[in-house]
Amino acid sequence: MAEIVLEQVSKRFPDGSLAVQDVDLAIADGEFVILVGPSGCGKSTTLNMIAGLEDITAGTLRIDDRVVNDLPPKDRDIAMVFQSYALYPHLTVRENMAFPLRLAKTDKAQVTAKVEEAARILDLTQFLDRRPAALSGGQRQRVAMGRAIVRAPKAFLMDEPLSNLDAKLRVQMRTQIARLQRRLGTTTVYVTHDQTEAMTLGDRVVVMRLGVVQQVGTPAQLYDLPINLFVAGFIGSPAMNFLNATVEGDILHCALGDLPLQNSTVQELARRNAPRELIVGLRPEAFEDAALSRDERGPVLTAVVDVLESLGSDVYVHFTAEGGGPARSAELEELARDSGLLDAGAGPGASAGAGQQVVARLN
Ligand code: ATP
Repeated sequence: MAEIVLEQVSKRFPDGSLAVQDVDLAIADGEFVILVGPSGCGKSTTLNMIAGLEDITAGTLRIDDRVVNDLPPKDRDIAMVFQSYALYPHLTVRENMAFPLRLAKTDKAQVTAKVEEAARILDLTQFLDRRPAALSGGQRQRVAMGRAIVRAPKAFLMDEPLSNLDAKLRVQMRTQIARLQRRLGTTTVYVTHDQTEAMTLGDRVVVMRLGVVQQVGTPAQLYDLPINLFVAGFIGSPAMNFLNATVEGDILHCALGDLPLQNSTVQELARRNAPRELIVGLRPEAFEDAALSRDERGPVLTAVVDVLESLGSDVYVHFTAEGGGPARSAELEELARDSGLLDAGAGPGASAGAGQQVVARLN
């Protein structure tokens, strides 16, 4: 069992700043949980508290049903992988990977066997006698992973382990980490600001903002049923479009025109909120090219294209929906100000009457 439970966990730094506020989170044995959110939202501080690298100001942290608030990191039986890899430059790959076992006074033959097994899993056998300086970024990253797995700890804690790699290698290593975690079945908490990593790696994803957990859910739950505008705008790329709207019956009036509501969940939500002003979220991938679409029931929009971005498989179409003005609400403006996540059209800088910026993804 390696269950990690945070109850009302907070962190206040000596300068008075509250970096993490009342986090409740129960991570099951073997689960792969991602902490995601914009820079400064408290992801690393939360991870560091689980590791024991930061004191907990308030609340309780349990690992395997034991309160560990005051337990030093070395006694928590967890292994951490850092963004910087934190390898010892003067030691070979073999010595780096053996280091935690040596510290634990493991028998020499066992050290050799465990290091060689980890090297085999991570495809590092041919590099065992090299020093880190003679390795590529991806190989160094694998050594850092190897050092974590040799100890067979109760849990892995990973802080942006892929962010120093180039885009292609990041995708490769992401798959490798997913495979490794599934094979070992070790409870893993993984910090990233990259929502693609969060959505592809995690059994569950914890979205944080300003030290507060916004939503915990499976990737599909976050995508389909985001709990607030922040999560809706953070998950998905390109980001969700937000439009001011009102509802009459099953018709939505917004800058894109009068759209019939066809999905029963959306109809119910709209009905519950009518006749209030609403903000509607429309994902770029919800659009289709009308000329190619097989769905004849959908409303057809005509728009003048501002910018076309072709990515090969997909085309992003940026256009302005006239007549609606930018979606505005105090919450949207605050989000746009402090996260930089939302489209400029939703932000306070957009001039009134300029229309609503919309992105559609066609393929
Ligand atoms: P990033 O993605 O940029 O690493 P993060 O989400 O991991 O960000 P944290 O590093 O956990 O964020 O920081 C959370 C907040 O706590 C930030 O506002 C940060 O400035 C603040 N903070 C972090 N360490 C300290 C410290 N030692 N003293 C004071 N404030 C700190």
